[in-house]
Amino acid sequence: MKKITIGILAHVDAGKTTLAEGILYHTGALRRLGRVDHGDTALDTHALERERGITIFASQASFTVGDLDVTLLDTPGHVDFSAETERIMQVLDYAILVISGTDGVQAHTRTLTRLLALYRIPTFLFVTKMDFARRSEAELIAELRAEFGDGCISFRSEARRARDEALAMCRESLLDIYLETGRIPDDAIRALIRERAVFPCYFGSGLKLTGIGELLDGLAQYAEPPVFPDVFGARVFKISYDPQGNRLTHLRVTGGRLKVREVLTYGGRSEKVSQLRVYAGARFTPVEEMESGGICAVLGLSATQNGQGLGYETAGAAPVTEPVMNYRILLPNGCDAQTFLPKLHRLAEEDPQLHLTWDPHLQEIHVGLMGDVQAEILKCLIRERFQTDVEIDSGRVLYKETIRNCVEGVGHYEPLRHYAEVHLRMEPLPRGSGLVFATECSEDALDRNWQRLIQTHLAERTHLGVLTGSPITDIKLTLTAGRAHPKHTEGGDFRQATYRAVRQGLMQAESVLLEPYYTFRLEVPAEQIGRAINDIRARSGTFDAPVSGGAMTLLCGRAPVASLNGYAAEIAAYTGGRGRFSCEVAGYDVCHDSDAQIAAAAYDPEADPDHSPDSIFCAHGAGFPVKWHLVPQYMHLESCLKKPEPVTARLQPKNLYLDDKELEAIMTREFGPIRRREYAPARVLPTGESASVPDRVRYLIVDGYNVIFAWPELHALADSNLDAARSRLMHILCNYGAFAKYEVVLVFDAYRVADNPGRRFDFHNIHVVYTAKNETGDLYIEKRIAEIGKNDQVRVVTSDGLIQLSAVRSGVLRMSAMEFRREAESVSAEIHEILENLNRTHMGRIGERLRAETNARREKGPAK
Ligand code: GDP
Ligand code: MG
Repeated sequence: MKKITIGILAHVDAGKTTLAEGILYHTGALRRLGRVDHGDTALDTHALERERGITIFASQASFTVGDLDVTLLDTPGHVDFSAETERIMQVLDYAILVISGTDGVQAHTRTLTRLLALYRIPTFLFVTKMDFARRSEAELIAELRAEFGDGCISFRSEARRARDEALAMCRESLLDIYLETGRIPDDAIRALIRERAVFPCYFGSGLKLTGIGELLDGLAQYAEPPVFPDVFGARVFKISYDPQGNRLTHLRVTGGRLKVREVLTYGGRSEKVSQLRVYAGARFTPVEEMESGGICAVLGLSATQNGQGLGYETAGAAPVTEPVMNYRILLPNGCDAQTFLPKLHRLAEEDPQLHLTWDPHLQEIHVGLMGDVQAEILKCLIRERFQTDVEIDSGRVLYKETIRNCVEGVGHYEPLRHYAEVHLRMEPLPRGSGLVFATECSEDALDRNWQRLIQTHLAERTHLGVLTGSPITDIKLTLTAGRAHPKHTEGGDFRQATYRAVRQGLMQAESVLLEPYYTFRLEVPAEQIGRAINDIRARSGTFDAPVSGGAMTLLCGRAPVASLNGYAAEIAAYTGGRGRFSCEVAGYDVCHDSDAQIAAAAYDPEADPDHSPDSIFCAHGAGFPVKWHLVPQYMHLESCLKKPEPVTARLQPKNLYLDDKELEAIMTREFGPIRRREYAPARVLPTGESASVPDRVRYLIVDGYNVIFAWPELHALADSNLDAARSRLMHILCNYGAFAKYEVVLVFDAYRVADNPGRRFDFHNIHVVYTAKNETGDLYIEKRIAEIGKNDQVRVVTSDGLIQLSAVRSGVLRMSAMEFRREAESVSAEIHEILENLNRTHMGRIGERLRAETNARREKGPAK
């Protein structure tokens, strides 16, 4: 016998459980036929299910057909339980998608189809309730094809010829075979089904037991069990507890075999399998071992998780269906949250989608749920399991945030003896993409292990947006640069730098608030369509033109989940129970009342201590905080965002290895006088100035404190550490002077310095002057200008109107501190771009030389 697992899926009420019972009865696995309507089916065993007549929990049964030993998994059909259905899909070989012949394709059917495609599960379609349906098979096939494509082909035996013709059209090679032999080989049909090119369609009635034999014959003939490896592997798809309180790990063995008393090692622990059970509805048979392909419940495992892989299997994908509502669990009086929480955690373990959270500030328990039905079921479950009556208040929508523009987020973490800097490019992605992480940082610049660590830190937490503190989504985060210190960097440093980088980026970006939307299908009596349209409009919904079909009119569209909450009850009321409403979560989109929600959240992103956008830098042996908007002025690596003038584009690939002459040419181009004009404002360059007049020196005299207090970033630094501000300015001027070929004199007014030494010294390529006690900065500058040769050019950076330059000498140009800032920035960006560009194209050799050249010029001082 070949073991195979088949799932049965449908929209609620389509007739899935009835069909499953019919199948079991037909194959002799069930002697007495139960009925959903009588609450006595073999599959809906839970009291809640029998009470409501709906399948809430996945359940299993076995039957044999042909040489197949089939495990049938019944799945919950309600939208609120899509995540559970999705987890079951991860262990299916085939699926039977049940469609009601009376209702046709419904919103949830489409969701299921999308999930089946996502998990690549070959699918058979069964259209049930044909005893009741008004439409013919041909009409229904046409509808299925319109929805799911031409692969939907009737496999009814009476339509054999048409079937083979349709199959022949699927592949050129099959057409040849068909024309030659008049038939399609079974092997080819199996392959088409396996590849999801063909979806065999069957028709019948689960209740009247028609068409079931044909469906089963089809499965026996065309479904193929997979081949499993000999080495042990298993996938967990559900955790539950039996009435005695035993923890059950439901899994599928996907390789080798699993025996009772065997020791399983997973997640750092080893536990003995104490029992293996094969369930059929609520009853089970203990077995000694389970071979690959089989499904069983394992006792003795205390910490398994839904979706977990055991043995060679790795963890399965997290369900794409996510809860969109947040509910508050209110405990009865006298019930202490701290003692009750661990119990709830057990439930969350069985269903990780619950997203159970404890809000320490509000002292509240929150759960993420798909909707009110799930909330009510959860309430019953809690009562049953823990004999406690909790209240679950009306749900709030779970908002998300994304960004609209591309930004660079920078985080720096450098308290004493720590060091990490992270640069992330953050770009918006299409809706529904989620967060995507990438790196384009070279491993020479940052070791692979640090890069991996940064990726882990990006993935490990829920990063919160800055509008309302909701999780962010649909953003690509690319690591563009990072720096570690060979001695001081510890693992935790990159965590800090990464988290801060994300938040720093978000603070700069244009953020957008997102909310979940439903697609809905609303059928109301024709005379009430006006009211329905008004309602949907008032709820910020959009819709297609209404379709009238006799007494009822159909309205399909899309609206925010938040505004449709509770609308189903309203419809039932105003249509006297005749209206039908179904909806399906259709992902996130721009929030319809962003301003109101942002105001209501009253979130202060700069005051969230766990999600700080600020950085920590170090100066003189002590760390100091730097506000997020000042980080770019302090960061140690340059920004990745400015589009570099592509030096490399001008180098043909064959020129990747340059000789020294070419290298010289590049340097002249990059550092030469011609390029300088591009960033220097034309008006400050006297005409006729040219590097070909070598005896002319260009002086730049900078009023140090004037600049420090005019540049916001230096000003902020000076407030906490004046020394650091001065040294930062010196470095900026070193680079500027070397690149732009200026003789730089930096003047600090002595009165600011306590001991007032009146020093002058050279720092790399620049001259630094602290004026003496009785000498003001202005006075010194005036004197200095007077000393400078008449033919030399002089530029003075100061905003100070008191310096009457023209009175000293003509031909002296004055620049304000802010004008100079722009120029210094463009120079620094330019230096960085050149180096980055060269590095990025594996021309490290040249990059090194350029760097050496810049340093050398800096040491030497400007050309005289
Ligand atoms: P599920 O929610 O998809 O599991 O659907 P159920 O099996 O619980 O069936 C929903 C309702 O449809 C019940 O009232 C069934 O009696 C009824 N039903 C199911 N299958 C058929 C069928 O083939 N013919 C008719 N006439 N009714 C059916
Ligand atoms: Mg059911």
